[in-house]
Amino acid sequence: MGRLAGKVALITGGARGMGKSHVRHFVAEGAKVVFGDVLDDWGAAVAGKLDPDVARYVHHDVTSEADWTAAVATAVETFGRLDILVNNAGILQHGKIADMAVEDFRRSLDINAVGTWLGIKSVIGAMTAAEGGSIVNISSIEGFAGAAGLAAYSASKFAIRGITRSAAQELGQFGIRVNSVHPGGILTPMAMSMAGNVDQDTATNFLSRLPIPRFGEPIEVSRLVAFLASDESSYCTGSEFLVDGGMISGPGY
Ligand code: NAP
Repeated sequence: MGRLAGKVALITGGARGMGKSHVRHFVAEGAKVVFGDVLDDWGAAVAGKLDPDVARYVHHDVTSEADWTAAVATAVETFGRLDILVNNAGILQHGKIADMAVEDFRRSLDINAVGTWLGIKSVIGAMTAAEGGSIVNISSIEGFAGAAGLAAYSASKFAIRGITRSAAQELGQFGIRVNSVHPGGILTPMAMSMAGNVDQDTATNFLSRLPIPRFGEPIEVSRLVAFLASDESSYCTGSEFLVDGGMISGPGY
């Protein structure tokens, strides 16, 4: 029996990258999954390869309260309950502070931080009705360290840590656990867009100095997310979990 057997999960940003990996891994671990994204064609393609009795795609912009209400309702009406939320959707916008428009800074905060907060707010009722749950918020190594050109992204990912800790304090009384996951260097379309700003020699040199000298695979994050979503992590809440090949463990970062 899978470690998520009997659980119902809602996963955001599930049409590609790590979100897609989480959706597939959760299904393989026995969960029923509702997943959303703004990339509807990609989401439908992922859903098309899964059994509709265990996985459903919904259009879900995480900045929209109405979309959150509809996604939670789909989980409860289709699968009977909601036990898990993975706040995975996010964007990465490059731009030095001197160059970035304030609208772009606000957009990063709106999707990455406000979207996460709105997700937690939206599932409290359903998880309380299920007598508990687990919320996994996807932050980043940039939730611990800043980088030139990433002020907007880093601010939004630091914010997720504060939201996670506060939510853990507020929701423990309802049996709801809340933790954050901090990936770094995972091979996805987002990481490729980041790599596009760095020349090949710099990237190869940087990777070769890591304790685990390679990019990470999305499934290596999905396994950690599934652990935190499952009852195996029953004494973990308000905590931060790195999955970065040791990237920020040393002085070089
Ligand atoms: P990805 O491949 O770009 O996937 C993110 C998905 O979220 C995309 O389908 C994206 O669609 C979607 N999305 C964007 N805005 C949305 C919105 N308002 N509502 C719903 N969905 C939205 O990125 P990823 O690398 O898998 O990243 C997943 C999460 O991990 C993100 O939170 C990211 O910040 C975090 N992370 C990634 C890495 C890494 O190394 N890859 C490292 C640290 C943290 P669009 O294409 O339209 O934007």
